[in-house]
Amino acid sequence: MNTISHCQLIGTGTAGLCFVIALVNKVKQAQEPKKLKYQALLDSLIAIEGNHQPGGVLGNYQINANTDADEIVSCLLDDTPFSNLRDYYLQQPEVHQPLITLPKVGKLMLEPIANIITSLLGDNLLLDTEVTRVEISKNECKSYGSHDQLLVSSQKMVLCCGGKEELLKDLLPWRQKTVFTGPFLQTKDASLLPHQQGSILIVGSSHSSFSAAWRLLNDPVLSLYAKGRDIIMLQRNPLVKLRCTPEFAHQNQLPFDDIDDVCPVSGLVYRNAGLRKDAKALYIQIKKGIEKRVRLEPMAAISDAKHLLDNAALIIQCTGFRANLPKITLNGVTQKVRQRSNFGELSDIKSGAAIPNLFGFGLGIQIIPEGDYRGENSFNGSSDGVLPYPNAVAPVIIDQLIQD
Ligand SMILES: Cc1cc2nc3c(=O)[nH]c(=O)nc-3n(C[C@H](O)[C@H](O)[C@H](O)COP(=O)(O)OP(=O)(O)OC[C@H]3O[C@@H](n4cnc5c(N)ncnc54)[C@H](O)[C@@H]3O)c2cc1C
Repeated sequence: MNTISHCQLIGTGTAGLCFVIALVNKVKQAQEPKKLKYQALLDSLIAIEGNHQPGGVLGNYQINANTDADEIVSCLLDDTPFSNLRDYYLQQPEVHQPLITLPKVGKLMLEPIANIITSLLGDNLLLDTEVTRVEISKNECKSYGSHDQLLVSSQKMVLCCGGKEELLKDLLPWRQKTVFTGPFLQTKDASLLPHQQGSILIVGSSHSSFSAAWRLLNDPVLSLYAKGRDIIMLQRNPLVKLRCTPEFAHQNQLPFDDIDDVCPVSGLVYRNAGLRKDAKALYIQIKKGIEKRVRLEPMAAISDAKHLLDNAALIIQCTGFRANLPKITLNGVTQKVRQRSNFGELSDIKSGAAIPNLFGFGLGIQIIPEGDYRGENSFNGSSDGVLPYPNAVAPVIIDQLIQD
């Protein structure tokens, strides 16, 4: 396959699907002459996906969504191929319950969206095709497949390849009993976990860490495994942030800065950075002493926790994702790509210079959205998920793609 296009999209998980939704929205909302440009971008878009179907990993996590029903469908406009699906979703009584599982969100939203996008893109969606490297030159972006064959040549490229987790060097001596957040939250079979006596140690105190602890306590698949074991969370940052109202924060003695930590749009404290739903409820229960099975253990460095690591039967590393990028060269020179940007542009770490015509977002790529989705001033992390991707991140990238 050697196809020429204006833009290629690599990866069609949540981020890649959100990119296509945002582009469909742009076509619908824009006036001429921009409308034509968006339509031309959509018509010529080629999407490449390594898996046999689009959709990515979100629906595989065996936990509840941290997002509300209206947030999940907030990007699906009227009179687009997605509007009936949105209405059907919102009619399901279970989506309005306070908690809905991610596999259910996957079944009710992600899979049908992936199906619509599959038929929308038709032959322009290449499935079962892994991109192993990309070559960028001044006016051309080329993707290559697993036999180093040229796949697609385009003027612009958007990488939405998801994220990966790498074992922390300090955990190397305990690697046999260490699992990562992603696989742990996808596990459907506790017999795959190490069965010797000992505690369960969660490294990190992020949203994922509390989700992992929540799963151990509440998911029937894992609660028997966890029964009678100490669950210890190693906490480097003493401040656990919660997404909540200022009143809730005051009532629960949660520290925050009145100016920097409150979102001017929503009025919520730590709108972007804070724990939500199950993870938030669990933290409050631990803090109040109602949930005694989980203990937070402060640590300055992992080496401080050697005895806890030795005594653990299972270690769950929840320390974040790095973007899962193919090898990238610019004019023949390999680029070490900076995984943080303002507008989705990717740059070389060494020179700091943006790599021309190359953009990326999704798990592991840190973008702080603009405008209403910016959240609190103090927010400096990545914006993951179904709310900012199609509403704030992808639209900014699309507007750069249609510039000549
Ligand atoms: C535990 C956990 C819980 C979360 N819960 C929520 C939540 O409740 N609500 C929410 O909004 N967000 C949530 N998030 C965030 C959300 O899951 C992620 O931001 C989102 O799923 C990431 O989507 P993605 O498209 O970046 O990655 P993925 O879903 O991993 O998709 C990447 C896609 O790219 C393809 N791909 C990768 N490399 C290549 C290649 N070289 N060539 C071709 N194809 C390739 C893969 O096959 C895959 O389909 C959660 C994240 C985690 C870790």
